[in-house]
This record gives sequence, structure tokens and C-alpha cells, in this order.
Amino acid sequence: MPLHIETPLLLSRPLSLIAERSVWLKLDALQPAGSFKIRGIGHACETYRRRGAQRFISSSGGNAGLAVAYAGRTLGLPVTVVVPETTSETAIKLLRQENAEVIVHGASWQEANVLAQSLIRAADAFIHPFDDALVWQGHATLIEEVARTGLKPDAIVLSVGGGGLLAGVSEGLERHDWGQVPIVAVETAGAASFRAALAAGQPVSLEQITSIAATLGAKRVCDQAVAWAKRRPIESLVVTDQDALTACERFLDDHRVLVEPACGASLAVVYERAPGLERFDTILVVVCGGATASLDQIRRWRAAML
Ligand SMILES: *Cc1c(COP(=O)(O)O)cnc(C)c1O
Repeated sequence: MPLHIETPLLLSRPLSLIAERSVWLKLDALQPAGSFKIRGIGHACETYRRRGAQRFISSSGGNAGLAVAYAGRTLGLPVTVVVPETTSETAIKLLRQENAEVIVHGASWQEANVLAQSLIRAADAFIHPFDDALVWQGHATLIEEVARTGLKPDAIVLSVGGGGLLAGVSEGLERHDWGQVPIVAVETAGAASFRAALAAGQPVSLEQITSIAATLGAKRVCDQAVAWAKRRPIESLVVTDQDALTACERFLDDHRVLVEPACGASLAVVYERAPGLERFDTILVVVCGGATASLDQIRRWRAAML
């Protein structure tokens, strides 16, 4: 039994009316631990346990760390997550709720990650949030589930942080001979490391992340994401924080599911009728989720933008 669940695939009436075409939603916001991350990270954790790992270590205070904590608890292995001092109370509470040992250390992720790396002993597995072939393999199951229903979309819209989801979906598409189905890769301005990599022809490091979509804030995408962009159709779209936030609010009203701006970015492509979509009759949006999203946080962001 995998650690992820098969999520609902539904034809969204409100989004289809806005886009004037069929918009399907793959509702990975409903995964245990709150996001698609459990697909890849669950697969990686299961594999490392089979190879003898006795503890999992993560340095993510976000959805990746939560997926590791969930996987560890479910598989019966201890988990240590080192997070920076900037990590929200909500995230720390959710990690502890999964029985993870949480160590708060350092002003930024870099420092937390250095400590996490120093803790790794022989029988530990460090779980990377996006740059691991096992993670991509697990994310590919999302496409398997879609293919099994008989739906073949004309394009797939998804969000890009470090590029693990992009790499996994690309792998899944190739496995199903859907190598020519375009992916629309969405980021927020201020976290557009994939856009920057495409422009440079290779991954480059952003100086800083300025978007509220912290989950998309990998300063550098993985090599594999750029490798896929050279092999298959992938288009980059960049939306504003404002549009991503508005999409979260509208999606809550339309589908009663609360997602974080990292996911709102993909939904914004539909809500804002981004140019380029008119070529596709049937669009699949990966509703990637976000466990730390809260109505209160959305209201605070909104108030700060007014
Ligand atoms: C991790 C995550 C992303 C970005 O995924 P990558 O694999 O890092 O590109 C987007 N949205 C949510 C909700 C996430 O948890």
C-alpha cells in the first residue's frame, strides 16, 4: 500500500465557465499531509526503509517536511526535522502532530539545513524535497491515476518550486506516451527560478525570494527540471502574488478547498484567463494543496496588499 491516496479528479464547472473550456482538477490538496508531496516523498521513504534506513531527516518546515513526518509515523520510523526560526507556529504544530522531533535552528533555511546534514548518521536517510529520482517516480503516480480514468488532457497546469513535481509529471507523461502533452509551469514573480533557468539554459540561483508563495521559493531548480524542458514541451508562466492570493480566495468559494498561494499560482492561470490557454480544449490543473494554509493567513496577506 503506498502512503499516498488516489485523489479525486473532477470537472470544475465554475473554472470551466471562466476559461470557456473544460477544466479538470486533480485534487491533491486532499492527500494526507496536505499536498502532492506525499506521493514522491512517501515512495522515497518506503524505498529507503526497505534499504535499511532507521530514521528520516528533513530540513523543510513546509509540505515536504510534513510529508516526511507523516511517512515516518506511518512506517513506524522516527523523523527529525530541522527548521529555521522563521518557521510558523502552525507548521511546527503540524510537524509535532505527526510525532516528528522538531529542532528550530538558524535564521534561514541554509543554516537549518547545515545542522540537518550534520545529524545524518549511517542508518539515517536524508529526504530531499525535490531533487531525488525516487521523489519524481512517486510524483509520476499522479499521471497514472489520470490516465486510468481515460481522460487525456490537452495541457497540464502545475506549480514549480524546485521542480520535483514538474519532473515527476513529465516522467508520468512519458510513461504513458503523452510526451507531447504540454505542461504549463507556473511560478509567482519573486520566486521564478524555473523561468530564470529557462532563460539561462541551465539552473541558476536567484539572489533572493520575494514572493509570499514561500513553497515555490527554491532559489535554484533541480537539473532534471531543466533537462525535461529541453526534451518536451514545457511553457513557463509567471503570475503575481496578488493573483495567486485571489485565486486561493476564489477557489475556496468555488470548491470549498483551502490551498496556499503556491497552489493558487496554478489556479490563477485559469481565473485570470492567462493568454496561451485558448489553444487547449481540455486543461488539467494539479491542485497541489498546502498544509499550512489558513484563512487567517490569507486575510493577513490580503490586508497587507490593500
Ligand atoms: C512543494 C510544493 C510545490 C512545488 O513543488 P516542487 O516539486 O518543489 O517544484 C508547489 N505547491 C505545493 C503546495 C508544494 O507543497
